[in-house]
Amino acid sequence: MSDQWNDVAGTFNLDSAPDYLPTPQLRALQLQRLQAIVHRAYNRVEHFRNRLDERNIKPDDIQALSDISLLPFSNKSDLRDTYPYGLFASPMSEVVRVHASSGTTGKPIVVGYTEQDMNVWRNVMKRTFVAAGLHRGDIIQNAFGYGLFTGGLGAHYGAEALGATVIPISGGNTERQIMVLRDFGVTAICCTPSYFVHLAETAEKMGVDFHQLPLRTGVFGAEPWTDAMRQYIEEKTGIHAYDIYGLSEIIGPGVGAECCCQNGLHIFEDHFYAEIIDPVSGAPVPDGAQGELVLSTLSKEAMPILRYRTHDLTSIISEQCACGRTLRRIRRISSRSDDMFIIRGVNVYPSQVEAALLRAEKNLPHYQIILTRHSGLDQMEVQVEVTPEMLSDRISELEKLQQRFTQALDETLNIRVKVTLVEPQTIARSEGKAKRVIDNRNK
Ligand SMILES: [Zn+2]
Repeated sequence: MSDQWNDVAGTFNLDSAPDYLPTPQLRALQLQRLQAIVHRAYNRVEHFRNRLDERNIKPDDIQALSDISLLPFSNKSDLRDTYPYGLFASPMSEVVRVHASSGTTGKPIVVGYTEQDMNVWRNVMKRTFVAAGLHRGDIIQNAFGYGLFTGGLGAHYGAEALGATVIPISGGNTERQIMVLRDFGVTAICCTPSYFVHLAETAEKMGVDFHQLPLRTGVFGAEPWTDAMRQYIEEKTGIHAYDIYGLSEIIGPGVGAECCCQNGLHIFEDHFYAEIIDPVSGAPVPDGAQGELVLSTLSKEAMPILRYRTHDLTSIISEQCACGRTLRRIRRISSRSDDMFIIRGVNVYPSQVEAALLRAEKNLPHYQIILTRHSGLDQMEVQVEVTPEMLSDRISELEKLQQRFTQALDETLNIRVKVTLVEPQTIARSEGKAKRVIDNRNK
């Protein structure tokens, strides 16, 4: 067992004890909590009770964990239809916090937390940081957005519970971020992976070398990213980049986290129950098989959510992790079924494009996919931003690079893609989630 199995400082963090529960005890705890939460939701949430009654299911029908498949799925539409507080199982006098998603279409979705829910959230975020090897004495720059978005405050309270020093800088203002990174002795940063790449590139231009700073850990989430992107980040900046997973509907960040093995994300199974289903038929698939992640909250008081379809595609790893945690892992999520687009009958994920580009040329992570329709035929263009050094190279070198990209995309996707090399800084940088696909087909 690695001496980094829990905490690089070599001390066991007691709050992480549930990460190591023997599996039979963990399953027994999950069943007990599932039964309680189904009763709570049935007795207190009309929307949920109606959906069970329609199917003639009673809370007492849940006798084993596998009986969860009797319950109907829930979707984003369940949250929208009951806007704002229709799924709350606690009176507002017990709700101490609400968050909401920005929602690109229509009304936002609203989520609530009791005091006890806040304790759980703090706990799972603390365990997230411990799994990434952070501890008291770390100085954490939290560049997730503060506000209605769960990322900023979720990471903030977890980092404080850890005893670390938190710098609540929130998102945006890249030059100030770099000044703080350089001057405040920052050892860890939280943000989206694409924003960290933007920070690293801007720092380079400002003459700040991340290798020379105390910064050693990145805790990255809120958007899917690939292992190729992790490699790029780690080589370019000399940090360890850890993936975290969560969603507001379930709690916010803190549903799952990578450990020192960086080989899948442990789900905090004492509070969340994970299933993988076939996204088309809805049938459960066995551990190891790829499908859509479905999550249930096992302890959430204010807003229990059962069998929530995340649209994130992954598989469950049930083999024991080398770190010693008994919690099952999910493979890192590199795509969402929502992000998938269909072009000339072929299903394409942005992550496939990213992996192909990074295979052809390691140093160009800024790209954008543009979909158009000419005379009824779909066209896909990938714009890739080149570096200033490349621009000064001979034209023939750029042509070769363009050919390499075209070939790599052709091999990966089996469709003809137009590759356009664009000048540095022409693709818009995001301070939150990166926008990879511009679909102009129905305009
Ligand atoms: Zn592990």
